[in-house]
Amino acid sequence: MRVTRMLIPTLREVPAEADAISHQLLLRAGMVRRVAAGVYSLLPLGNRVVKKIEKIVREEMERAGGTELLLPIIQPAEVWHESGRWNVYGPELFRLQDRHGRDFCLGPTHEELITTLFRQEIKSYRQLPLLLYQIQNKYRDERRPRFGLLRGREFIMKDLYSFDRDEEGLDISYRKMYEAYTRVFSRCGLVFRVVEADTGAIGGTNSHEFMVLADTGEEELVFCSLCDYAANTEKAPCRPQGEQEEEARPLQLVATPAARTVDDLASYLGVDARKILKSLFFDADGEPVVVLVRGDRSVNETKVKNFLLANSLEIADEVEILNRYGVPMGFAGPVGLREKMPVKILGDEEVRALSNAVAGANRVDYHYLNVNPGRDFDVDVYGDFRTAQEGDPCPLCGAPLQVCRGIEVGHIFKLGTKYSEALKATIIDEKGNEVPVVMGCYGIGITRTMAAAVEQKHDQDGIIWPVAIAPYEVVLMAVNQGDALHARYAEELYREFLQAGIDVIYDDRLERPGVKFKDADLIGYPARVVIGKKMVSEGLLEIKWRETGETVLKKRSEAVEYLR
Ligand code: ATP
Ligand code: MG
Ligand code: MG
Ligand code: MG
Repeated sequence: MRVTRMLIPTLREVPAEADAISHQLLLRAGMVRRVAAGVYSLLPLGNRVVKKIEKIVREEMERAGGTELLLPIIQPAEVWHESGRWNVYGPELFRLQDRHGRDFCLGPTHEELITTLFRQEIKSYRQLPLLLYQIQNKYRDERRPRFGLLRGREFIMKDLYSFDRDEEGLDISYRKMYEAYTRVFSRCGLVFRVVEADTGAIGGTNSHEFMVLADTGEEELVFCSLCDYAANTEKAPCRPQGEQEEEARPLQLVATPAARTVDDLASYLGVDARKILKSLFFDADGEPVVVLVRGDRSVNETKVKNFLLANSLEIADEVEILNRYGVPMGFAGPVGLREKMPVKILGDEEVRALSNAVAGANRVDYHYLNVNPGRDFDVDVYGDFRTAQEGDPCPLCGAPLQVCRGIEVGHIFKLGTKYSEALKATIIDEKGNEVPVVMGCYGIGITRTMAAAVEQKHDQDGIIWPVAIAPYEVVLMAVNQGDALHARYAEELYREFLQAGIDVIYDDRLERPGVKFKDADLIGYPARVVIGKKMVSEGLLEIKWRETGETVLKKRSEAVEYLR
Protein backbone atom coordinates (compact mmCIF):
# COMPACT_ATOMS: atom_id res chain seq x y z
CA MET A 1 0.00 0.00 0.00
CA ARG A 2 1.07 3.56 -0.71
CA VAL A 3 0.86 6.17 1.99
CA THR A 4 -0.57 8.67 -0.50
CA ARG A 5 -3.55 6.35 -0.98
CA MET A 6 -4.12 5.81 2.72
CA LEU A 7 -5.74 7.68 5.54
CA ILE A 8 -2.99 8.04 8.14
CA PRO A 9 -3.62 11.31 9.95
CA THR A 10 -0.64 11.44 12.29
CA LEU A 11 -0.46 14.15 14.93
CA ARG A 12 2.59 15.85 16.40
CA GLU A 13 0.80 17.13 19.48
CA VAL A 14 -0.49 14.96 22.30
CA PRO A 15 -4.29 15.21 22.19
CA ALA A 16 -5.63 16.69 25.40
CA GLU A 17 -8.35 14.02 25.70
CA ALA A 18 -5.86 11.15 25.83
CA ASP A 19 -5.49 9.71 29.33
CA ALA A 20 -3.20 6.77 28.68
CA ILE A 21 -0.01 6.24 26.69
CA SER A 22 -1.71 3.81 24.32
CA HIS A 23 -4.55 6.23 23.83
CA GLN A 24 -2.17 9.08 23.02
CA LEU A 25 -0.02 7.04 20.68
CA LEU A 26 -2.87 5.36 18.83
CA LEU A 27 -4.43 8.78 18.23
CA ARG A 28 -1.13 10.36 17.25
CA ALA A 29 -0.24 7.46 14.94
CA GLY A 30 -3.53 8.02 13.11
CA MET A 31 -4.87 4.59 14.02
CA VAL A 32 -8.00 5.46 15.95
CA ARG A 33 -10.31 8.41 16.40
CA ARG A 34 -12.75 9.07 19.18
CA VAL A 35 -16.44 9.29 18.30
CA ALA A 36 -17.93 9.45 21.79
CA ALA A 37 -16.79 8.46 25.27
CA GLY A 38 -15.54 4.88 24.94
CA VAL A 39 -16.49 4.69 21.27
CA TYR A 40 -13.80 4.74 18.61
CA SER A 41 -13.35 4.47 14.88
CA LEU A 42 -10.56 2.21 13.75
CA LEU A 43 -8.69 3.93 10.95
CA PRO A 44 -6.97 1.81 8.30
CA LEU A 45 -3.75 1.18 10.22
CA GLY A 46 -5.59 0.44 13.45
CA ASN A 47 -7.91 -1.84 11.60
CA ARG A 48 -4.98 -3.80 10.19
CA VAL A 49 -3.60 -4.40 13.66
CA VAL A 50 -7.01 -5.61 14.80
CA LYS A 51 -7.28 -7.93 11.79
CA LYS A 52 -3.86 -9.40 12.54
CA ILE A 53 -4.75 -10.08 16.15
CA GLU A 54 -8.04 -11.59 15.03
CA LYS A 55 -6.25 -13.84 12.57
CA ILE A 56 -3.99 -15.21 15.30
CA VAL A 57 -6.98 -15.68 17.58
CA ARG A 58 -8.96 -17.49 14.86
CA GLU A 59 -6.09 -19.81 14.07
CA GLU A 60 -5.64 -20.76 17.70
CA MET A 61 -9.36 -21.20 18.35
CA GLU A 62 -9.61 -23.49 15.33
CA ARG A 63 -6.50 -25.39 16.39
CA ALA A 64 -8.17 -26.01 19.74
CA GLY A 65 -11.24 -27.36 17.98
CA GLY A 66 -13.41 -24.26 18.00
CA THR A 67 -15.71 -23.28 15.17
CA GLU A 68 -16.77 -19.76 14.40
CA LEU A 69 -20.31 -18.46 14.26
CA LEU A 70 -21.87 -15.05 14.57
CA LEU A 71 -24.55 -14.21 17.07
CA PRO A 72 -26.47 -10.95 16.90
CA ILE A 73 -25.40 -7.90 18.83
CA ILE A 74 -28.98 -7.01 19.56
CA GLN A 75 -30.57 -9.41 22.01
CA PRO A 76 -34.17 -9.72 23.18
CA ALA A 77 -34.80 -9.13 26.87
CA GLU A 78 -36.68 -12.44 27.17
CA VAL A 79 -33.57 -14.62 27.29
CA TRP A 80 -32.02 -12.25 29.80
CA HIS A 81 -35.12 -12.60 31.95
CA GLU A 82 -34.82 -16.37 31.65
CA SER A 83 -31.22 -16.35 32.84
CA GLY A 84 -32.16 -13.91 35.57
CA ARG A 85 -29.62 -11.35 34.40
CA TRP A 86 -31.95 -8.67 33.03
CA ASN A 87 -32.57 -7.40 36.51
CA VAL A 88 -29.14 -8.00 37.96
CA TYR A 89 -26.82 -6.78 35.22
CA GLY A 90 -27.22 -3.16 36.16
CA PRO A 91 -26.44 0.05 34.34
CA GLU A 92 -23.58 -1.47 32.36
CA LEU A 93 -26.17 -3.12 30.11
CA PHE A 94 -27.13 -0.97 27.12
CA ARG A 95 -30.89 -1.32 26.98
CA LEU A 96 -33.18 -0.23 24.18
CA GLN A 97 -36.72 -0.65 22.97
CA ASP A 98 -38.07 -1.25 19.52
CA ARG A 99 -41.03 0.66 18.05
CA HIS A 100 -43.43 -1.75 19.73
CA GLY A 101 -41.95 -1.06 23.13
CA ARG A 102 -40.24 -4.44 23.36
CA ASP A 103 -37.05 -4.53 25.41
CA PHE A 104 -33.70 -5.40 23.93
CA CYS A 105 -30.08 -4.99 24.92
CA LEU A 106 -26.80 -4.70 23.09
CA GLY A 107 -24.80 -7.78 23.99
CA PRO A 108 -22.12 -7.21 26.63
CA THR A 109 -21.47 -10.95 26.40
CA HIS A 110 -23.37 -13.84 24.81
CA GLU A 111 -24.04 -16.63 27.31
CA GLU A 112 -27.80 -16.22 26.93
CA LEU A 113 -27.87 -16.45 23.16
CA ILE A 114 -25.37 -19.26 22.84
CA THR A 115 -27.12 -21.30 25.52
CA THR A 116 -30.53 -20.91 23.92
CA LEU A 117 -29.03 -21.83 20.56
CA PHE A 118 -27.59 -24.93 22.15
CA ARG A 119 -30.93 -25.72 23.77
CA GLN A 120 -32.66 -25.63 20.40
CA GLU A 121 -30.09 -27.54 18.40
CA ILE A 122 -28.20 -30.04 20.55
CA LYS A 123 -29.82 -33.03 22.17
CA SER A 124 -27.24 -35.73 22.78
CA TYR A 125 -23.96 -36.14 24.58
CA ARG A 126 -22.70 -37.64 21.31
CA GLN A 127 -22.61 -34.16 19.81
CA LEU A 128 -20.19 -33.00 22.51
CA PRO A 129 -17.71 -31.53 23.20
CA LEU A 130 -18.64 -28.42 21.28
CA LEU A 131 -16.59 -25.23 21.18
CA LEU A 132 -18.26 -22.26 19.49
CA TYR A 133 -16.80 -18.81 19.16
CA GLN A 134 -17.31 -15.46 17.55
CA ILE A 135 -15.36 -12.26 17.09
CA GLN A 136 -17.64 -9.34 17.38
CA ASN A 137 -18.48 -6.01 18.94
CA LYS A 138 -19.53 -5.97 22.55
CA TYR A 139 -21.32 -3.18 24.36
CA ARG A 140 -20.86 -2.24 27.97
CA ASP A 141 -21.93 1.10 29.33
CA GLU A 142 -18.86 1.27 31.55
CA ARG A 143 -19.13 3.55 34.54
CA ARG A 144 -15.84 5.11 33.58
CA PRO A 145 -14.96 4.53 29.96
CA ARG A 146 -11.34 5.60 29.77
CA PHE A 147 -7.86 4.93 28.55
CA GLY A 148 -9.02 4.79 24.94
CA LEU A 149 -9.36 1.25 23.64
CA LEU A 150 -8.44 -0.21 27.01
CA ARG A 151 -11.87 0.44 28.48
CA GLY A 152 -14.33 1.22 25.74
CA ARG A 153 -18.09 1.07 25.72
CA GLU A 154 -18.00 -0.55 22.29
CA PHE A 155 -15.13 -2.97 21.82
CA ILE A 156 -14.23 -6.10 19.92
CA MET A 157 -14.12 -9.35 21.81
CA LYS A 158 -13.55 -12.93 20.87
CA ASP A 159 -15.83 -15.06 23.00
CA LEU A 160 -15.83 -18.82 22.96
CA TYR A 161 -18.22 -21.09 24.80
CA SER A 162 -17.52 -24.73 25.55
CA PHE A 163 -20.18 -27.38 26.02
CA ASP A 164 -19.34 -30.65 27.68
CA ARG A 165 -21.24 -33.58 29.10
CA ASP A 166 -19.56 -33.41 32.52
CA GLU A 167 -16.97 -31.69 34.68
CA GLU A 168 -14.15 -33.86 33.32
CA GLY A 169 -15.06 -32.74 29.83
CA LEU A 170 -15.07 -29.14 30.98
CA ASP A 171 -11.62 -29.61 32.49
CA ILE A 172 -10.33 -30.74 29.12
CA SER A 173 -11.96 -27.87 27.22
CA TYR A 174 -10.69 -25.43 29.82
CA ARG A 175 -7.14 -26.73 29.52
CA LYS A 176 -7.32 -26.48 25.73
CA MET A 177 -8.40 -22.88 26.01
CA TYR A 178 -5.71 -22.14 28.56
CA GLU A 179 -3.14 -23.41 26.09
CA ALA A 180 -4.77 -21.64 23.15
CA TYR A 181 -4.69 -18.33 25.04
CA THR A 182 -1.07 -18.85 25.95
CA ARG A 183 -0.29 -19.37 22.27
CA VAL A 184 -2.33 -16.35 21.21
CA PHE A 185 -0.55 -13.89 23.46
CA SER A 186 2.87 -15.43 22.82
CA ARG A 187 2.30 -15.17 19.08
CA CYS A 188 1.22 -11.55 19.51
CA GLY A 189 4.71 -10.95 20.90
CA LEU A 190 3.50 -9.79 24.29
CA VAL A 191 4.96 -10.31 27.73
CA PHE A 192 2.13 -11.64 29.86
CA ARG A 193 1.31 -13.64 32.94
CA VAL A 194 -1.54 -16.00 33.61
CA VAL A 195 -3.02 -15.41 37.03
CA GLU A 196 -5.59 -17.10 39.13
CA ALA A 197 -8.38 -14.61 39.02
CA ASP A 198 -9.21 -15.08 42.68
CA THR A 199 -7.50 -13.72 45.73
CA GLY A 200 -4.01 -15.04 46.14
CA ALA A 201 -4.83 -16.60 49.49
CA ILE A 202 -7.60 -18.72 48.05
CA GLY A 203 -6.11 -19.99 44.85
CA GLY A 204 -9.14 -21.08 42.87
CA THR A 205 -8.69 -22.79 39.55
CA ASN A 206 -12.07 -21.97 38.09
CA SER A 207 -10.94 -18.83 36.43
CA HIS A 208 -7.74 -17.44 35.02
CA GLU A 209 -6.92 -14.05 33.66
CA PHE A 210 -4.28 -13.33 31.05
CA MET A 211 -2.48 -10.17 31.95
CA VAL A 212 -0.24 -8.20 29.67
CA LEU A 213 2.38 -6.73 31.93
CA ALA A 214 2.58 -2.95 31.97
CA ASP A 215 3.25 -0.49 34.76
CA THR A 216 0.18 1.42 33.65
CA GLY A 217 -2.12 -1.61 34.02
CA GLU A 218 -5.27 -1.30 36.12
CA GLU A 219 -4.79 -4.69 37.76
CA GLU A 220 -2.31 -5.61 40.44
CA LEU A 221 -0.77 -9.06 40.43
CA VAL A 222 1.39 -11.02 42.77
CA PHE A 223 3.71 -13.63 41.42
CA CYS A 224 6.30 -15.93 42.87
CA SER A 225 9.94 -15.29 42.13
CA LEU A 226 10.69 -19.01 42.16
CA CYS A 227 7.74 -21.11 41.04
CA ASP A 228 5.05 -20.17 38.55
CA TYR A 229 2.41 -19.14 41.06
CA ALA A 230 0.67 -15.91 40.10
CA ALA A 231 -2.60 -14.36 41.18
CA ASN A 232 -4.67 -11.24 40.88
CA THR A 233 -4.68 -9.34 44.14
CA GLU A 234 -7.65 -7.68 45.65
CA LYS A 235 -6.97 -4.26 46.93
CA ALA A 236 -5.84 -4.54 50.51
CA PRO A 237 -8.86 -4.03 52.71
CA CYS A 238 -8.59 -0.92 54.79
CA ARG A 239 -10.74 1.52 56.59
CA PRO A 240 -11.83 4.46 54.48
CA GLN A 241 -9.83 7.52 55.42
CA GLY A 242 -11.21 9.58 58.21
CA GLU A 243 -13.81 7.06 59.34
CA GLN A 244 -14.48 7.56 63.01
CA GLU A 245 -15.14 4.93 65.62
CA GLU A 246 -18.84 5.13 66.30
CA GLU A 247 -20.83 4.14 69.28
CA ALA A 248 -22.77 0.94 68.61
CA ARG A 249 -26.47 1.55 68.13
CA PRO A 250 -29.20 -1.04 68.65
CA LEU A 251 -29.83 -3.50 65.84
CA GLN A 252 -32.91 -2.54 63.93
CA LEU A 253 -34.89 -4.46 61.32
CA VAL A 254 -36.09 -1.99 58.75
CA ALA A 255 -38.73 -2.07 56.07
CA THR A 256 -36.92 -1.63 52.79
CA PRO A 257 -37.86 -1.95 49.18
CA ALA A 258 -36.04 -4.56 47.08
CA ALA A 259 -33.31 -2.13 46.17
CA ARG A 260 -31.92 -2.15 42.69
CA THR A 261 -28.49 -0.89 43.58
CA VAL A 262 -26.37 -0.22 46.59
CA ASP A 263 -26.86 3.47 45.97
CA ASP A 264 -30.65 3.10 45.92
CA LEU A 265 -30.56 1.28 49.19
CA ALA A 266 -28.10 3.71 50.73
CA SER A 267 -30.15 6.71 49.79
CA TYR A 268 -33.34 5.01 50.94
CA LEU A 269 -31.81 4.29 54.33
CA GLY A 270 -29.95 7.55 54.45
CA VAL A 271 -26.60 5.87 55.04
CA ASP A 272 -23.24 6.00 53.34
CA ALA A 273 -23.10 3.33 50.61
CA ARG A 274 -19.82 2.12 52.07
CA LYS A 275 -21.73 1.02 55.13
CA ILE A 276 -23.61 -1.58 53.14
CA LEU A 277 -22.27 -5.05 53.63
CA LYS A 278 -22.84 -8.13 51.63
CA SER A 279 -22.56 -11.31 53.58
CA LEU A 280 -22.04 -14.51 51.72
CA PHE A 281 -23.25 -17.71 53.24
CA PHE A 282 -22.59 -21.44 52.84
CA ASP A 283 -19.28 -23.07 52.31
CA ALA A 284 -18.81 -26.24 50.29
CA ASP A 285 -20.23 -28.36 53.13
CA GLY A 286 -23.33 -26.29 53.35
CA GLU A 287 -22.17 -24.69 56.59
CA PRO A 288 -23.11 -21.09 57.03
CA VAL A 289 -20.07 -18.90 56.65
CA VAL A 290 -20.20 -15.22 57.16
CA VAL A 291 -17.97 -13.50 54.72
CA LEU A 292 -18.40 -9.84 54.70
CA VAL A 293 -17.84 -7.82 51.65
CA ARG A 294 -17.97 -4.15 52.04
CA GLY A 295 -19.83 -2.18 49.44
CA ASP A 296 -17.54 0.47 48.12
CA ARG A 297 -17.34 2.93 45.27
CA SER A 298 -15.37 0.81 42.89
CA VAL A 299 -16.45 -2.97 43.21
CA ASN A 300 -16.17 -5.51 40.47
CA GLU A 301 -18.75 -8.15 39.80
CA THR A 302 -16.28 -10.68 38.47
CA LYS A 303 -14.34 -10.62 41.67
CA VAL A 304 -17.42 -11.54 43.64
CA LYS A 305 -18.32 -14.27 41.20
CA ASN A 306 -14.80 -15.64 41.17
CA PHE A 307 -14.69 -15.51 44.89
CA LEU A 308 -17.95 -17.43 45.17
CA LEU A 309 -16.82 -20.00 42.68
CA ALA A 310 -13.40 -20.43 44.17
CA ASN A 311 -14.92 -21.17 47.53
CA SER A 312 -17.83 -23.19 46.23
CA LEU A 313 -20.11 -20.68 47.84
CA GLU A 314 -23.65 -20.62 46.60
CA ILE A 315 -25.65 -17.57 45.84
CA ALA A 316 -28.31 -19.10 48.00
CA ASP A 317 -31.70 -17.81 48.78
CA GLU A 318 -31.14 -15.17 51.39
CA VAL A 319 -34.48 -15.39 53.04
CA GLU A 320 -34.16 -19.09 53.50
CA ILE A 321 -30.82 -18.61 55.15
CA LEU A 322 -32.18 -15.98 57.45
CA ASN A 323 -34.94 -18.29 58.51
CA ARG A 324 -32.94 -21.44 58.74
CA TYR A 325 -30.09 -20.09 60.80
CA GLY A 326 -31.77 -17.23 62.47
CA VAL A 327 -28.78 -15.11 61.59
CA PRO A 328 -29.64 -11.47 61.30
CA MET A 329 -27.75 -11.23 58.07
CA GLY A 330 -28.43 -12.31 54.57
CA PHE A 331 -26.65 -12.50 51.33
CA ALA A 332 -27.22 -9.21 49.69
CA GLY A 333 -25.44 -10.41 46.60
CA PRO A 334 -27.95 -9.14 44.10
CA VAL A 335 -27.51 -5.67 45.45
CA GLY A 336 -23.80 -5.83 44.97
CA LEU A 337 -23.87 -7.75 41.74
CA ARG A 338 -26.12 -5.28 40.09
CA GLU A 339 -23.54 -2.63 40.22
CA LYS A 340 -19.90 -2.75 39.42
CA MET A 341 -18.18 -1.87 42.64
CA PRO A 342 -14.86 -2.91 44.08
CA VAL A 343 -15.30 -5.70 46.52
CA LYS A 344 -13.28 -5.58 49.62
CA ILE A 345 -13.28 -8.86 51.32
CA LEU A 346 -12.68 -8.09 54.92
CA GLY A 347 -10.58 -10.06 57.35
CA ASP A 348 -11.73 -10.94 60.87
CA GLU A 349 -10.26 -7.87 62.44
CA GLU A 350 -11.79 -5.51 60.00
CA VAL A 351 -15.15 -7.16 60.32
CA ARG A 352 -15.06 -6.85 64.08
CA ALA A 353 -14.08 -3.23 63.77
CA LEU A 354 -17.14 -2.38 61.75
CA SER A 355 -19.94 -0.70 63.50
CA ASN A 356 -23.48 0.25 62.64
CA ALA A 357 -23.37 -1.20 59.17
CA VAL A 358 -26.29 -2.25 57.00
CA ALA A 359 -26.81 -5.86 56.04
CA GLY A 360 -29.62 -7.91 54.72
CA ALA A 361 -31.20 -9.65 51.82
CA ASN A 362 -32.44 -7.94 48.75
CA ARG A 363 -36.00 -8.54 49.69
CA VAL A 364 -38.61 -6.25 50.98
CA ASP A 365 -38.22 -5.78 54.72
CA TYR A 366 -35.06 -7.79 55.09
CA HIS A 367 -32.50 -5.20 55.95
CA TYR A 368 -30.90 -4.47 59.23
CA LEU A 369 -29.55 -1.17 60.37
CA ASN A 370 -26.78 -0.84 62.94
CA VAL A 371 -25.32 -4.24 62.45
CA ASN A 372 -22.34 -4.69 64.73
CA PRO A 373 -20.40 -7.80 63.85
CA GLY A 374 -19.34 -9.71 66.92
CA ARG A 375 -22.27 -8.34 68.84
CA ASP A 376 -25.03 -9.40 66.46
CA PHE A 377 -23.46 -12.52 65.04
CA ASP A 378 -20.28 -14.55 65.31
CA VAL A 379 -17.55 -13.38 63.09
CA ASP A 380 -16.46 -16.47 61.26
CA VAL A 381 -14.67 -15.29 58.24
CA TYR A 382 -13.69 -17.82 55.67
CA GLY A 383 -9.92 -17.67 55.77
CA ASP A 384 -7.75 -14.63 55.84
CA PHE A 385 -8.55 -12.26 53.07
CA ARG A 386 -5.80 -9.79 53.49
CA THR A 387 -4.48 -9.08 50.06
CA ALA A 388 -1.19 -10.73 49.32
CA GLN A 389 1.61 -8.22 49.43
CA GLU A 390 5.17 -7.89 48.23
CA GLY A 391 7.32 -10.25 50.26
CA ASP A 392 4.49 -12.50 51.50
CA PRO A 393 5.36 -16.18 51.26
CA CYS A 394 4.22 -17.89 48.08
CA PRO A 395 1.35 -20.27 48.94
CA LEU A 396 2.97 -22.97 46.80
CA CYS A 397 6.67 -22.78 47.61
CA GLY A 398 7.15 -20.17 50.31
CA ALA A 399 9.47 -17.90 48.31
CA PRO A 400 8.75 -14.19 48.63
CA LEU A 401 5.99 -12.91 46.36
CA GLN A 402 6.51 -9.96 44.06
CA VAL A 403 3.99 -7.45 42.87
CA CYS A 404 3.53 -6.03 39.40
CA ARG A 405 0.80 -4.44 37.30
CA GLY A 406 -0.99 -5.73 34.27
CA ILE A 407 -3.85 -5.34 31.84
CA GLU A 408 -6.52 -8.06 31.64
CA VAL A 409 -6.59 -9.07 27.99
CA GLY A 410 -8.12 -12.52 28.34
CA HIS A 411 -10.30 -14.31 30.83
CA ILE A 412 -11.28 -17.96 30.95
CA PHE A 413 -14.00 -19.13 33.23
CA LYS A 414 -15.68 -22.39 34.20
CA LEU A 415 -19.38 -21.69 34.22
CA GLY A 416 -20.52 -25.19 35.09
CA THR A 417 -24.29 -25.48 34.77
CA LYS A 418 -25.22 -21.95 35.81
CA TYR A 419 -26.64 -20.97 32.42
CA SER A 420 -27.67 -24.39 31.21
CA GLU A 421 -29.83 -24.85 34.30
CA ALA A 422 -31.40 -21.42 34.10
CA LEU A 423 -32.00 -21.68 30.37
CA LYS A 424 -32.77 -25.42 30.36
CA ALA A 425 -30.02 -26.44 27.97
CA THR A 426 -29.91 -30.16 28.58
CA ILE A 427 -28.50 -33.22 26.90
CA ILE A 428 -29.37 -36.87 27.08
CA ASP A 429 -26.43 -38.75 28.58
CA GLU A 430 -25.36 -42.37 27.97
CA LYS A 431 -27.84 -43.64 30.52
CA GLY A 432 -30.68 -41.79 28.89
CA ASN A 433 -30.89 -39.17 31.62
CA GLU A 434 -31.56 -35.56 30.79
CA VAL A 435 -28.78 -33.48 32.36
CA PRO A 436 -27.74 -29.85 32.07
CA VAL A 437 -24.79 -29.31 29.77
CA VAL A 438 -21.56 -28.17 31.45
CA MET A 439 -20.24 -24.89 30.11
CA GLY A 440 -17.20 -22.67 30.07
CA CYS A 441 -16.70 -19.20 28.62
CA TYR A 442 -13.53 -17.65 27.34
CA GLY A 443 -13.00 -14.05 26.27
CA ILE A 444 -10.22 -12.11 24.61
CA GLY A 445 -10.42 -8.36 24.27
CA ILE A 446 -9.14 -7.83 20.74
CA THR A 447 -9.08 -4.04 20.80
CA ARG A 448 -7.82 -4.04 24.37
CA THR A 449 -4.98 -6.35 23.33
CA MET A 450 -4.02 -3.83 20.66
CA ALA A 451 -3.88 -1.03 23.22
CA ALA A 452 -2.13 -3.22 25.78
CA ALA A 453 0.60 -3.95 23.23
CA VAL A 454 1.18 -0.22 22.94
CA GLU A 455 1.23 0.23 26.71
CA GLN A 456 3.89 -2.43 26.91
CA LYS A 457 5.92 -1.54 23.83
CA HIS A 458 6.67 2.08 23.12
CA ASP A 459 9.36 4.69 23.65
CA GLN A 460 9.51 8.47 23.52
CA ASP A 461 9.28 8.40 19.72
CA GLY A 462 6.22 6.22 19.43
CA ILE A 463 4.91 2.68 19.21
CA ILE A 464 7.13 -0.37 18.83
CA TRP A 465 4.84 -3.02 17.33
CA PRO A 466 5.71 -6.67 17.70
CA VAL A 467 6.15 -7.95 14.14
CA ALA A 468 3.15 -10.29 14.30
CA ILE A 469 0.63 -7.51 14.92
CA ALA A 470 2.29 -4.53 13.25
CA PRO A 471 0.06 -2.64 10.81
CA TYR A 472 2.79 -3.26 8.22
CA GLU A 473 6.04 -5.06 8.89
CA VAL A 474 8.15 -2.84 6.67
CA VAL A 475 7.95 0.79 5.65
CA LEU A 476 9.81 1.71 2.50
CA MET A 477 10.76 5.26 1.58
CA ALA A 478 13.10 7.33 -0.52
CA VAL A 479 15.03 10.09 1.22
CA ASN A 480 14.17 12.33 -1.66
CA GLN A 481 10.96 11.28 -3.35
CA GLY A 482 11.25 14.36 -5.62
CA ASP A 483 14.42 12.94 -7.15
CA ALA A 484 13.44 10.89 -10.19
CA LEU A 485 16.16 8.31 -9.66
CA HIS A 486 15.35 7.80 -5.97
CA ALA A 487 11.67 7.53 -6.77
CA ARG A 488 12.33 5.00 -9.49
CA TYR A 489 14.40 2.81 -7.20
CA ALA A 490 11.71 3.04 -4.58
CA GLU A 491 8.96 2.09 -7.02
CA GLU A 492 10.94 -0.89 -8.24
CA LEU A 493 11.78 -2.06 -4.79
CA TYR A 494 8.19 -1.66 -3.68
CA ARG A 495 7.02 -3.95 -6.46
CA GLU A 496 9.75 -6.42 -5.70
CA PHE A 497 8.80 -6.51 -2.01
CA LEU A 498 5.14 -7.01 -2.85
CA GLN A 499 5.96 -9.86 -5.17
CA ALA A 500 8.09 -11.48 -2.51
CA GLY A 501 5.12 -11.33 -0.16
CA ILE A 502 6.65 -8.78 2.19
CA ASP A 503 4.09 -6.88 4.23
CA VAL A 504 5.21 -3.43 3.08
CA ILE A 505 3.87 0.07 3.06
CA TYR A 506 5.51 2.58 0.72
CA ASP A 507 5.76 6.12 1.99
CA ASP A 508 5.63 7.81 -1.40
CA ARG A 509 4.78 11.26 -0.05
CA LEU A 510 6.74 14.26 -1.26
CA GLU A 511 7.64 15.08 2.33
CA ARG A 512 10.94 15.91 3.94
CA PRO A 513 12.75 12.78 5.16
CA GLY A 514 12.54 14.04 8.75
CA VAL A 515 8.76 14.00 8.59
CA LYS A 516 8.67 10.49 7.18
CA PHE A 517 11.17 9.21 9.74
CA LYS A 518 9.18 10.71 12.58
CA ASP A 519 5.97 9.16 11.29
CA ALA A 520 7.63 5.80 10.83
CA ASP A 521 8.88 5.86 14.42
CA LEU A 522 5.56 7.10 15.75
CA ILE A 523 3.54 4.45 13.92
CA GLY A 524 6.11 1.87 14.91
CA TYR A 525 6.70 -0.27 11.83
CA PRO A 526 9.23 -2.93 12.87
CA ALA A 527 11.57 -2.24 9.93
CA ARG A 528 12.29 0.90 7.93
CA VAL A 529 13.95 0.60 4.53
CA VAL A 530 15.44 3.80 3.17
CA ILE A 531 16.66 4.54 -0.32
CA GLY A 532 19.22 7.32 -0.25
CA LYS A 533 22.53 8.40 -1.75
CA LYS A 534 24.15 5.06 -0.94
CA MET A 535 21.62 3.34 -3.15
CA VAL A 536 22.62 5.44 -6.09
CA SER A 537 26.36 5.31 -5.46
CA GLU A 538 26.86 1.80 -4.05
CA GLY A 539 23.58 -0.03 -4.50
CA LEU A 540 23.04 -0.19 -0.74
CA LEU A 541 19.81 0.14 1.22
CA GLU A 542 19.61 1.27 4.80
CA ILE A 543 17.46 -0.92 7.00
CA LYS A 544 16.67 0.24 10.52
CA TRP A 545 14.97 -1.89 13.16
CA ARG A 546 12.51 0.03 15.27
CA GLU A 547 12.89 -2.03 18.40
CA THR A 548 16.68 -2.03 18.72
CA GLY A 549 17.53 1.03 16.67
CA GLU A 550 20.05 -1.15 14.85
CA THR A 551 20.85 -0.01 11.32
CA VAL A 552 22.26 -2.27 8.64
CA LEU A 553 23.28 -1.67 5.04
CA LYS A 554 22.20 -4.35 2.59
CA LYS A 555 22.72 -4.86 -1.07
CA ARG A 556 19.55 -4.45 -2.96
CA SER A 557 19.73 -8.08 -4.07
CA GLU A 558 19.93 -9.23 -0.45
CA ALA A 559 17.13 -7.07 0.91
CA VAL A 560 14.21 -9.40 0.27
CA GLU A 561 16.00 -12.37 1.72
CA TYR A 562 17.08 -10.36 4.78
CA LEU A 563 13.62 -9.00 5.51
CA ARG A 564 11.69 -12.17 4.94
P1 ATP B 1 -12.55 -5.53 33.38
O1 ATP B 1 -12.22 -6.24 34.65
O2 ATP B 1 -11.35 -4.83 32.79
O3 ATP B 1 -13.75 -4.65 33.47
P2 ATP B 1 -14.04 -7.77 32.62
O4 ATP B 1 -13.48 -8.73 33.60
O5 ATP B 1 -15.31 -7.09 32.92
O6 ATP B 1 -12.92 -6.65 32.30
P3 ATP B 1 -14.71 -9.92 30.84
O7 ATP B 1 -16.16 -9.94 31.10
O8 ATP B 1 -13.84 -10.95 31.49
O9 ATP B 1 -14.13 -8.45 31.16
O10 ATP B 1 -14.51 -9.89 29.25
C1 ATP B 1 -13.50 -10.60 28.55
C2 ATP B 1 -12.45 -9.67 27.99
O11 ATP B 1 -13.02 -8.57 27.27
C3 ATP B 1 -11.60 -9.00 29.05
O12 ATP B 1 -10.60 -9.87 29.51
C4 ATP B 1 -11.05 -7.81 28.29
O13 ATP B 1 -9.93 -8.19 27.51
C5 ATP B 1 -12.18 -7.44 27.35
N1 ATP B 1 -12.94 -6.28 27.86
C6 ATP B 1 -13.83 -6.27 28.87
N2 ATP B 1 -14.34 -5.04 29.06
C7 ATP B 1 -13.75 -4.26 28.11
C8 ATP B 1 -13.88 -2.89 27.77
N3 ATP B 1 -14.71 -2.09 28.42
N4 ATP B 1 -13.14 -2.41 26.74
C9 ATP B 1 -12.29 -3.21 26.06
N5 ATP B 1 -12.14 -4.52 26.33
C10 ATP B 1 -12.86 -5.04 27.34
MG1 MG C 1 -15.69 -5.15 33.36
MG1 MG D 1 -11.98 -8.20 35.07
MG1 MG E 1 -12.79 -10.64 33.25
